[in-house]
Amino acid sequence: MNRIGPLVIVEGPNNSKVPFSRSLYIDCSDKVLIDSGADPKSLMELKKQYGVELIVNTHYHPDHTQHNHLFPDAEKLINPIEYETARTIEGIAKANGIYQEWGEAGVAMWKEKLPHEWVKNLGEISGRYEYETEYSFGGVKVIFLHTPGHTSGHASPYFPELGAVYVGDYDMTSFGPWYHGTDGSIEDFINSGKRLLSLNADTFITGHQKGVFKRPEFEQEMEKYLEIINKRDETIEAYVRQGLNFEELTNIGIFYPKNTLVVPIFKTWERSGMRKHLSRLGLTVPNTEEVFLTV
Ligand SMILES: [Zn+2]
Repeated sequence: MNRIGPLVIVEGPNNSKVPFSRSLYIDCSDKVLIDSGADPKSLMELKKQYGVELIVNTHYHPDHTQHNHLFPDAEKLINPIEYETARTIEGIAKANGIYQEWGEAGVAMWKEKLPHEWVKNLGEISGRYEYETEYSFGGVKVIFLHTPGHTSGHASPYFPELGAVYVGDYDMTSFGPWYHGTDGSIEDFINSGKRLLSLNADTFITGHQKGVFKRPEFEQEMEKYLEIINKRDETIEAYVRQGLNFEELTNIGIFYPKNTLVVPIFKTWERSGMRKHLSRLGLTVPNTEEVFLTV
């Protein structure tokens, strides 16, 4: 496990790719774990070697909360905006666009298929932390910055004295920015990306894949990463000008590879992501409502 001062980086399998993520452990007397999406074996080793008394989740997504249950005795906190959302299956279904795209029938199906562990993990969260407030864990200072866009409540733990920040799902992966839930926002995503760059920090730790960036590289990558949003705009606009309707637009694979759109949740996010771009572009396309009604 790599270290940055008191911060221990715990990798997820497969370079912390989704459905896993990178966790961060604050090695201090308070024994704090940030997100629990890392390799369960490494997390259990960490628990044995150092102990975990508090888990802080940056946001409610399963790839960041999925191993909360491995620490039954630890207190678990989440950001104040998502505390309520994460408490009910309906709340999560709505935030993920299930209700928006498929109505009540979709929510009923989602409830049936949702893994039990996921519900259990979220059910164990018992409290919330405050944004923009300086906490001190065993003398290590951290501020949970509110960085909405990926989700409305996403927090980025910033360690001012270490010049380090865990940027979570502002992850610089080639997939590009993810803001597909009904609680996501393209404009907020761009603003949060800019805010992260404005911090007095030299070390940026992402939740997935590459991992740790020094400032110059993070700046370059952020520019390319946010540019993906404009490219999506251009691609979608060109298809709309060709006369494609909503169903046709969401069968191309603008966000997710076409062959993965048979997976209901990816199809859901392809559609919800498309709506966000269409609205940002001020475009309306025919048959949007009819598609909803015929599902
Ligand atoms: Zn996420």
